[in-house]
Amino acid sequence: MKFKTSETLSTINAYEAGKPLKEVEREYKITHIIKLASNENPLGFSPNVHDAVKAQMRDMNRYPESSGYLLKQKLSRKFKVPPENIVLGNGSDDIIALLAHGFLNPGDEALMPLPSFLMYEISVKTAKGCPIMVPLVDFSTNLKGLIDRLSPKTRMIFITNPFNPTGSIISFHEFNDFLAKVPEDVIIIVDEAYIEFVRDETVYDSLQKPLADPRIVTLRTFSKVYGLAGFRVGYGIMDFEIADVLNRIRQPFNVNTLAQAAAVAALEDEEFFKKTINTIHEGLDYLFSELGALGLKCLPTQSNFLMVDLKADATKVFEEMLKLGVIVRSMKSYGFDTFLRITAGTKEENTILINSLQKVIQK
Ligand SMILES: *Cc1c(COP(=O)(O)O)cnc(C)c1O
Repeated sequence: MKFKTSETLSTINAYEAGKPLKEVEREYKITHIIKLASNENPLGFSPNVHDAVKAQMRDMNRYPESSGYLLKQKLSRKFKVPPENIVLGNGSDDIIALLAHGFLNPGDEALMPLPSFLMYEISVKTAKGCPIMVPLVDFSTNLKGLIDRLSPKTRMIFITNPFNPTGSIISFHEFNDFLAKVPEDVIIIVDEAYIEFVRDETVYDSLQKPLADPRIVTLRTFSKVYGLAGFRVGYGIMDFEIADVLNRIRQPFNVNTLAQAAAVAALEDEEFFKKTINTIHEGLDYLFSELGALGLKCLPTQSNFLMVDLKADATKVFEEMLKLGVIVRSMKSYGFDTFLRITAGTKEENTILINSLQKVIQK
């Protein structure tokens, strides 16, 4: 290419998203496709969201409210934190990028598990920082390994709890032991995209005592339990000085008007929230028992997805499943060559998934 790129660019691979439903429809010329690949909400979203978004449509000639006033008020009341400690993002992906750009200088290090949610690595690299990746141990975050890799250049550590893609969690005690060993000037980003699905009460939940430690930045999203992935809304709860930096560098209208209205409406519907949690838990229990009956082992999970070991090339099974109209995720690109990641769906979707998988593996 005749244009000179940013030097870190050659090492960045594009984010590989779950295969979009419409794309599979076009490619395979089949309808009634089931997508259990991107940890989305199988029930859709609260009907309140529909009404709120429709009502908001008449104001769409105006710029969004840059402050996200109403949404921050709601979150402020829910978590008992001042609005000044909340940063809204165009998905939590946006906030991950803002943290990297706001706090990394060339060569600064950001620690993260390997494999990790790919946006950590992409954001750190585009901010000219240096990702330091620490392999999982037993499919779980290697907290001791992260501590061992601390250096004077470490500026931030990414923690995902529950972990994507394995579904493991970090307990309150494990996290506190870890925290005690992290220097005062290192930001600890705790990505809790799936925390609402956790059933294990020993889990570390950073918002049980929000703002208890200035190093901790909590990330949450409306993309999973609230079913608003297409709207793109996430938020971070953090020390005021960190929030101030992010607010100075973010795009002023990073969360659009419809997304703000959708998120406010979603927070108001506790019934839908509970229904989602119940559906996911029942779905996971069903999948565990049915996959077990097929002779397959699953990793224990505290999220809305599970990883299953096929003891065979997962990508081949993934492709065969696609032909049957079921989209799941091969974990090959994460280094787990024989594993699929399956998002819990509705009862009907889960049943079709099991039937399809049975056909594929018994072929
Ligand atoms: C899905 C997910 C998110 C949420 O991303 P959004 O940009 O808010 O849609 C964040 N972190 C992890 C680990 C995820 O899996």
